[in-house]
Amino acid sequence: MAMILVGNGTVVTRDEERPILRDGCVAIDGNVIVCVGGLAETRARYDGARFIDARGGVIMPGFVNAHMHYYSAFSRGLPGKGAPAQNFGEVLERLWWRLDKALSLDDVYYSALVCMIDCIKNGTTTVIDHHASPLAARGSLFRIADAARETGIRSCLCYEVSDRDGERIARDGIAENVDFIKYAREDGSGLIAGMFGLHASMTLSSETLAACAEAMGGLDAGYHVHVAEGPSDEEDSVKKYGARVIERFRDFGITGGRSIAVHCIHTNRDEQEILRETGTAVVHNPESNMGNAVGCCPVLDMRERGVLLGLGTDGYVSDMLQSYKIANALQKHERRHPNVAWAEIPEMLFANNPEIAGRYFDIPMGRLRPGYSADVIALDYDPPTEMTGDNVNGHLLFGASGRCVRTTIALGRVLMENGELTGIDERGVIQRARECSKRVWERF
Ligand SMILES: [Zn+2]
Repeated sequence: MAMILVGNGTVVTRDEERPILRDGCVAIDGNVIVCVGGLAETRARYDGARFIDARGGVIMPGFVNAHMHYYSAFSRGLPGKGAPAQNFGEVLERLWWRLDKALSLDDVYYSALVCMIDCIKNGTTTVIDHHASPLAARGSLFRIADAARETGIRSCLCYEVSDRDGERIARDGIAENVDFIKYAREDGSGLIAGMFGLHASMTLSSETLAACAEAMGGLDAGYHVHVAEGPSDEEDSVKKYGARVIERFRDFGITGGRSIAVHCIHTNRDEQEILRETGTAVVHNPESNMGNAVGCCPVLDMRERGVLLGLGTDGYVSDMLQSYKIANALQKHERRHPNVAWAEIPEMLFANNPEIAGRYFDIPMGRLRPGYSADVIALDYDPPTEMTGDNVNGHLLFGASGRCVRTTIALGRVLMENGELTGIDERGVIQRARECSKRVWERF
């Protein structure tokens, strides 16, 4: 790969030594950043490199989405069947557990492509995904990996094992996780990684959890699981197993420094202490939680207790700035206090998400600094008030959205330049997606 320079903008580095650099430039060699400096001297130093003009906008690290469902794309506009859901359990039964069973391997692939194109447009360069397609489980993660390779979106993948569709499909899910984890480890591109996916405590018997732990063996890839999204997950665990969800998961070795517990809305103090102690990351998905009316994740309390917290979209969108805005407003609303969460939410998105992703990929990310992964985006944003290293998060909160992103580079590969997608036939993909989704809707 030839050298690339992204310059002529305000560089927001996320590097505490030099948080903001006016008229700056980022130099990329292969998949790493090699220099961050002033525009004139960087251009002179790397004479002949390809130059991408940020046109006076903001240059910053690409976003990480710490919890996503690539399989969700065909839910958009889906006509419901039967009575509308009255609670979260019915949302699962009447929407998601019907949609995922209607997916073929081709649908999985096109759904992923659609989401990844959306990631490129919104500046999301790394995604930690949680996948389900029970009637097409085997091979599904490999098809998503194909989509990742074609689009260039770095993806950490897993298949959500569950008992809800019977023993054979649970076994398929286990085998898919193990095969993919091993495959991703050998891949060497830095673009894909594997984890072990689990749906949620309430759909996993102790026999199945034991089988998962056994299949994981010494792989130590970490688990990715929904936790206490609705109150019923905790009630089910206490009733059936005499333990709360996180206590139950700890006993199976599911918590740990490479594991992700998603939501954790109804966890109690003891469970949060286990999450902290084991280094398990918690990922908050504010828009999804509000939409499903399941409650508000106590992220401020957990932060105080030292839990590592990240931010995801749970398949709602691929725009991390949307999740960022909603997370900010939700904590203030929930606490009935206008001055909370100013520091915690930016920390989740800009510092913790890259840290969490860094547990699965070898290269450090989330900063514009030599040696870091060349995940660089440029936004059309011309601040109407002074922008400094101290208030840049407020500018992004109130002045920017994902669709301000004009240029997206992931692992040194230019995926979008000044609003034009490079190397992917977007219209062709969307057209195929519409054809696939029509058949999915018929089977739904
Ligand atoms: Zn989810």
